[in-house]
Amino acid sequence: MRLLFLAPHPDDIDFTSASTCQQAVALGWDVHEVLMTSDEYGTERNEFKGKRIKRIRMHEMEEAAKVYGTNPDGTPKLKLHWFGEIDGYLPFNKDVLSRLQRLILDLQPDVVFGPDSFFTLDYHVDHMRAGWLIYFAIKTLPLSKARHPLLFLYHSFNNNFFVPVKALSIQVSAWAKHRSQTTPLRNKLILPVRWLFNTFRRARTGSTLAEGFRRVRFVAGENVLGKVSQRTFYRLVTKVNNGYKRSFYTPTPDQLGL
Ligand SMILES: [Zn+2]
Repeated sequence: MRLLFLAPHPDDIDFTSASTCQQAVALGWDVHEVLMTSDEYGTERNEFKGKRIKRIRMHEMEEAAKVYGTNPDGTPKLKLHWFGEIDGYLPFNKDVLSRLQRLILDLQPDVVFGPDSFFTLDYHVDHMRAGWLIYFAIKTLPLSKARHPLLFLYHSFNNNFFVPVKALSIQVSAWAKHRSQTTPLRNKLILPVRWLFNTFRRARTGSTLAEGFRRVRFVAGENVLGKVSQRTFYRLVTKVNNGYKRSFYTPTPDQLGL
C-alpha cells in the first residue's frame, strides 16, 4: 500500500492525521507527504519571514517526520516531497495542477489524503486552494496512466470515514517538533489537557477518539453545500481569507527575495 498525504504547510498532517499516518507507517506501508509550501510566513515577526523561517520550518518538519518512525540509518520512514510554492500564495492554476498530477502519476499512490475545500473547517487560503488542487488532480487523472487512488479529505465537517486513534501521544509528539509554532509551556500542557478532554468525552458518550475524513466518490452533487452554490461559498471564504492575508502576509514575497 502506498499513501500520499498532501499538506499545504508543514504541520498540517501532524495536526489532522497524525495517528492515521503513524498506523500506516507502522504497518510497513510506503507513506509519502507532499508539502505544497514551506511556511515562509510562519511567524508573526517580520524579520524572520522569508528564507529564515523557511529553513527553520523545513528542519522542524524533517524532525516531525522522524516521530512516525525511522529507518536504521536514522532517516524518517515518512518520505517528504517539497513542492516549492510560497506560503499564502499557493496558486490554483493549470501549471500547478499538472505538476501535482505528474507527481501523483510518478508515485502511483493507492490512497491520497488532502484538505476538504467543499465542507471545510479551515478557511486558510492555501488550504482552500490545496483542496481544490487535489480534488481536481485526482478527478482528472488520466485513466490510462494510473489507477485512480482513493481520496480522503481532512478538515471536513462532513466526515464519513473514521480511523480510531491508537495513541494520543503521537499527535502531541509530532506537534511538539514544530517548536517555532508553539511555546514549551503549551507543549507541556497539551497532552494532559487532551487526555482529560478525551476521558471526559469518553465517559459521557462512550465513544472512541478517531480521526475523521470525507471519502470523495466523484459522484454528481456530493460537493454541493445545501442551497448555497459552491461559487458563492468560495467567494465568501475568500473574502474571509483576504482579510487574514492582508494582515499576515506582509512584506510581499518579492520584498523577501522569495
Ligand atoms: Zn496549514
